[in-house]
Amino acid sequence: MSKTISINAGSSSVKWQLYSMPEEKVLAKGLIERIGLKDSISTVKFNDRSERQTLDIADHTQAVKILLDDLKRFEIIQSYDEITGVGHRVVAGGEYFKESALVTDDVLEKIEELSLLAPLHNPANADGIRAFKEILPNITSVAVFDTSFHTTMPEKAYRYPLPTKYYTENKVRKYGAHGTSHEYVAHEAAKLLGKPIEELKLITCHIGNGASITAVKGGQSVDTSMGFTPLGGVMMGTRTGDIDPAIIPYLMQHTDDFNTPEDISRILNRESGLLGISESSSDMRDIHTAMRAGDEKALLANEIFVDRIQKYIGQYLAVLNGADAIIFTAGIGENSVTIRKMVIEGISWFGCDVDPEKNFFGCNRRHLNRSC
Ligand code: ADP
Repeated sequence: MSKTISINAGSSSVKWQLYSMPEEKVLAKGLIERIGLKDSISTVKFNDRSERQTLDIADHTQAVKILLDDLKRFEIIQSYDEITGVGHRVVAGGEYFKESALVTDDVLEKIEELSLLAPLHNPANADGIRAFKEILPNITSVAVFDTSFHTTMPEKAYRYPLPTKYYTENKVRKYGAHGTSHEYVAHEAAKLLGKPIEELKLITCHIGNGASITAVKGGQSVDTSMGFTPLGGVMMGTRTGDIDPAIIPYLMQHTDDFNTPEDISRILNRESGLLGISESSSDMRDIHTAMRAGDEKALLANEIFVDRIQKYIGQYLAVLNGADAIIFTAGIGENSVTIRKMVIEGISWFGCDVDPEKNFFGCNRRHLNRSC
């Protein structure tokens, strides 16, 4: 029985799942956190067991070695030969990758070149790929790009109204992200609705720490809220989402914080969003706990968060000229009854409604919240 492993490498983490193929049964999954820091944590879950160890893990290569050792140590596999394939999630595929690609030296080079478009993600994704190539050089290695699903967007959606040379020479355009998630939930929704996806107009809301909304027509992405990088669109845990670009030169002139491109990127990507407004946390569970305790800043952070999602849903109802369903997924979308309720109740004018019972029981990872 052959086994395949999926890898989602972040800058300091590796999330993984091991599947038996071809039935795609999950045999084990795990998370390695705090790579490069003291007291890194590796967690492995299998057969209702959860094993956790704390040790110092210097880099992604060491992380991959530890995860493979764990698979043998816990007898999930007997030998590395059982693993015949690895799939790596890669955030930015630019205009190069309209679909998944077998990893070659040229593909890896392009992924690294595209780090400019996803500076928080692509370098880590490339590290994960290199680590596997070093330890298991002969297995089939595939890169799956977050951006591929969005390559069907029409030019009117992906172009910015900047001088044309910045598109032709600098490749500045909308690429979007979270494509694998939007595509997956759109197909799951079609199954639940019992209709061919080709006949459906869907709005998919991937709302986690990173968040994006996509307009899906006939199974294809026709517009999405993330832009040139995963910074654009709705407000997120630590990212601004869309803001007036004139704010940046203004703050460069009038504060001491916005001096270099690195400063600007750090503030907009890591210090803004829920964290920036609440001044306490980027995590929605903390925001809701603080709201219940009467924290006004947390209340405002939640309000802005909901407002931006509603506005994008409104835009995409216009783009699609209506929708058959609005779909929620990712950490907040799947788990927060409150956020789903607030988002949908506020746009009832469009014919959307919340069924309180389904919304409550929808709080299970496989349920989709049909609303419009
Ligand atoms: P990412 O993959 O982008 O890091 P996730 O999809 O894991 O993010 O989502 C993380 C977010 O989901 C966090 O803000 C977390 O607070 C939120 N979340 C998880 N469970 C709940 C819940 N029950 N209620 C509200 N928010 C939740």
